[in-house]
Amino acid sequence: MRRRLVAGNWKMNKNYREAMDLFEKLNEASAAMPAEVDVMIAPPALYLTGFAKTSTRKIEVGAQDVSHREEEEGAFTGEVSAAILKSAGVRYAIVGHSERRQYHGENDELIGKKIQACVKAELTPVYCCGESLEERESDRHFEVVRKQVSTALSGFSAEELSALIIAYEPVWAIGTGKTASAEQAQEMHADIRANVKELFGAEFAEKVRILYGGSCKPGNAAEIFGKPDVDGGLIGGAALKAEDFTAIIGAGF
Ligand code: PEP
Repeated sequence: MRRRLVAGNWKMNKNYREAMDLFEKLNEASAAMPAEVDVMIAPPALYLTGFAKTSTRKIEVGAQDVSHREEEEGAFTGEVSAAILKSAGVRYAIVGHSERRQYHGENDELIGKKIQACVKAELTPVYCCGESLEERESDRHFEVVRKQVSTALSGFSAEELSALIIAYEPVWAIGTGKTASAEQAQEMHADIRANVKELFGAEFAEKVRILYGGSCKPGNAAEIFGKPDVDGGLIGGAALKAEDFTAIIGAGF
């Protein structure tokens, strides 16, 4: 059985005082979070070390991005390597978020390098994929997501990707208040699973966790997470309020 994971992507939000306040509330709430659910928060990079040191065991910490460079250290101003993140107690790194693709020109070849850097440093990559509104409306969503996944994951063995987490995030649903229906999420998750089965085999496909992301809220999380191929969520806006994030973690329990 795959364990559910609920991850909160804080993006570029929360000044220091606000971040500490939210973190403290989540730590306090963590004792009552269901044992069956893994929880991760990805705050702005500046807060990672402090959070990793002081979070309860329930809440793990992830980076919102990681350098694509394989070097553990070197003259690469502004970059943070997977090895440095790992050494500071960070457990996960989100890679290929649609905002990185949109505002920083990231493509699946580069994202594949980020996954490689994570694999080398034993950091768990959370690989984001998903189609635009135009791609969905022209009925190309399965084809687009299949291409993203097979490009970013090309050249890896199933063993190297044993920790991989995939997040399906339809771009038209991110931060828009428009959620994919539970049925739309399920059919895409099933297709991603079928795709990785072709690439890495049945055992890998059965084990890999696929999260849904895109305007997930306390009111719709239980229905979406209840679908057989949905293994939790990557949460943006609703991760910024302790009550909402906690309700999503407990959805359906
Ligand atoms: C995200 O950016 O990963 C996301 C899912 O955002 P939101 O929940 O705000 O749509």
